[in-house]
Amino acid sequence: MPELPEVETTRRRIAPLFVGRTIDAVHTTAPSYFFLTPPAALRRALEGRGVRDLERRGKYLLAHLDDDSRLLLHLGMTGQLFSGTATSPRLLRASERGILAPEAQQRFRPDAHTHLRLRFRDDGPEIFFRDARKFGKVLWLAKGETSERLDRLGIDALEATGATLFAASRGRSVAVKNLLLDQAVLAGAGNIYADEALFGAGVRPTRRAGRVTRGEYERIAVALRRVLLRSIETGGSSISDYVAPDGRDGAYQDERRVYAREGEACFGCGAKVKRIVLGQRSAHYCPSCQR
Ligand SMILES: [Zn+2]
Repeated sequence: MPELPEVETTRRRIAPLFVGRTIDAVHTTAPSYFFLTPPAALRRALEGRGVRDLERRGKYLLAHLDDDSRLLLHLGMTGQLFSGTATSPRLLRASERGILAPEAQQRFRPDAHTHLRLRFRDDGPEIFFRDARKFGKVLWLAKGETSERLDRLGIDALEATGATLFAASRGRSVAVKNLLLDQAVLAGAGNIYADEALFGAGVRPTRRAGRVTRGEYERIAVALRRVLLRSIETGGSSISDYVAPDGRDGAYQDERRVYAREGEACFGCGAKVKRIVLGQRSAHYCPSCQR
């Protein structure tokens, strides 16, 4: 699932192709749960609108339009937001998804999974929102309208400090890993980066959040920012379906220390990395380096 670095990478790469342009035409697939704003209303709201800014909030992208309305996009599990010039093999591969054109194809052509397609007045590259599993979301917010999805977000994972995490954790009996995944506490962190940050901080994912010390939260916040920034620098993690807007794959998966390394040797001490299930999700840690 795209986490903060993948969404931020998407934002940075798609913004130059989006901001400053005027939407001319909106094409969508049929109405479905993907569209929190029905396609017909979306077309009326977006056509003719200029795009002023593209912001990230946690794992959401928020486009600010020239009538002070906003377009909220969530990539879900497999969402891909990219321009018409992308050439990733992940998009072109005729895999189990079996719906894409031959591998030799140089330019992406919208398919049945391309739920949103934006054309612009300048006739330049289109923008596509493609999502094979359709857990993504599109929501238009009129001027002044808010969304619970945004309102309930906690502090952005890049801005979290030891003090904010410590304060949020008091009295909480959940595992510290699950506290980090709670979007109302920390917006943007997900499974990969929570595991990596806890490894960096030397804290076991299973510890009760309310028992983790102030000093340990300082280390967690520092480690979290480090792994997130490093992942953004390398273009995010391309473990499953994530693809950057220009079609390039991310490279952070090559730098993982514990995530999805079950049974492999810890880079710190050589012990075998463990995988456990914590609140229906997997957690990976080194039993010797993390206490
Ligand atoms: Zn270790």
